[in-house]
Formats: sequence, structure tokens, C-alpha cells
Amino acid sequence: MSSAILSLDRINKVFGTGDLSLHVLKDVSLDVEQGEFVSIMGPSGSGKSTLMNIIGTLDKPTSGAYVLEGEPVHELNERRIAQLRNESIGFVFQHFFLLARSNAVANVELPLIYAGRSRAERREIAERALDRVGLAAKHRSLPNQLSGGEKQRVAIARAISTGPKFILADEPTGALDTTTSAQIMELFRDLNADGTTIIMITHEQDIANCADRIVRIRDGRIESDERIRGRRVATAGDAEGVADAEPERAG
Ligand code: ADP
Ligand code: MG
Repeated sequence: MSSAILSLDRINKVFGTGDLSLHVLKDVSLDVEQGEFVSIMGPSGSGKSTLMNIIGTLDKPTSGAYVLEGEPVHELNERRIAQLRNESIGFVFQHFFLLARSNAVANVELPLIYAGRSRAERREIAERALDRVGLAAKHRSLPNQLSGGEKQRVAIARAISTGPKFILADEPTGALDTTTSAQIMELFRDLNADGTTIIMITHEQDIANCADRIVRIRDGRIESDERIRGRRVATAGDAEGVADAEPERAG
């Protein structure tokens, strides 16, 4: 039985029409299972952000099927898609997108407001998430009092606070120096070891190498899909096991 949390089947994305149309994604098929840490890698202009927007349900494919947690996103109305997005996906972006006038706790609480949590619950969940990402001493700091790495940690705390099915990160280290990038990747590996599924988009090989699986995209097509280290085995009721580092190639 497949434990795929998301499945893309022959996704195509064409921007514009007629002579000016641009075929950006070409028959992209991809399954991601619970517990995976996948990086999607490709050069600038290869279609990564377009693919991220589709996986994140922020944009719809021109053709093809996208099934997220068993639901056919391509057939759902906007209201249901927004609900599914809020429940399922924790977004992390290159430029953090924190509210400048709100402290760390308030930033992390934001999606919990939309999730309908009470004030007391929000506070507790947000503080726990900030502790989890190593910011126990920075709960009341404003974004401009935090370093880049700390800001990204707040954004990651915000992403995990709602208990999403997966984290979707677009160039999460794109604005960070090498040392800080490595620390953020260490945090991702740590969260993944605890069972968080991560899909990370990057154009940097070093960063991509931190995942267990690398999907390479070029000119809108999947060029390769390769497991680079032992992956977590998701079995019913138990996502603890780690398989041997048996290289395994798809396709
Ligand atoms: P990447 O993130 O890998 O750099 P993108 O997905 O952002 O690549 O872009 C892939 C191609 O699609 C580029 O040629 C870009 O100009 C084009 N593109 C992206 N978004 C749009 C859009 N909304 N309208 C038209 N063309 C777009
Ligand atoms: Mg991009």
C-alpha cells in the first residue's frame, strides 16, 4: 500500500496562449511519501518555483492530476483548496516573510489564528515550536532584533506550529551565509528524524545533498530522481524505522 501524501501525475503548466505561450512544466510525475526529505533541484528558470506553487496549491496545472492526501486538488473549489493548504502545508520561504512589528511568538501564532485555536492554545503551541527550533531565549524578539538564521528559525517554527503534513521550503537558505545554511539544514534533518516530511527546493548542490532524495528538474522535465541515503520507512502506526542506506534509483 502506498503511503504517498502527495502524487503528481503528468503535470503540465503552460503560461500564456498562442505564439506567446511558454510550456514550463512537461509531464512531471512525482510521489512523495510520509517521512521523506526530498530536495527538488535545478538551475534558474528550470521551473522549480512553478512546481512549488503547484505542490503548494497556490497555482493550478494546465493539465495532469495532483492528489494531496487523497484529494484531487485539480477538481476542488478554491475554498476547499485553501482549507487543505492550511491543514497540510507549512511554507518556508527564502525571505522569511515575518511580520516586522510582531515578535517571534506572535509570528508563529499567526497560522494558528486561522486554524481556530484559542489564545491560550496558540501561545503554548507557539512557544513550544520556538523552543523546538532553538529559540527559547528569543520569544519576545522582533524580527529586526534577530539574525537571518534566527528569522528563518521563526519561519520554520511558524511552519511546524499547525502540525502540517509536510514542510514546503523554497530556497530556504538562499538569503543565508554558508555556516547559517548548514545550521538550518541540521534543523531540517532533526525535524525529519522526528517524522516531519520535507520538500525543499534549491539550486545549490550542497543544500540538496542534505535531503535523502534528490529530484533534478531541467527545462521543466524531471531529469533524475535518486535516493542518496537511507530513508525513513513509514509503516502503519510507526514512522520510526530507518532503512539501510541502499541506493535505489527510480525510473
Ligand atoms: P525557477 O524557479 O526554476 O527559477 P520558474 O518556475 O520561476 O523557474 O520559471 C520557469 C520559467 O517559467 C521561466 O522561464 C519563467 O520566466 C517562466 N514563468 C514563471 N512564472 C510565469 C508566469 N506567471 N507567467 C509567464 N511565465 C512565467
Ligand atoms: Mg525559483
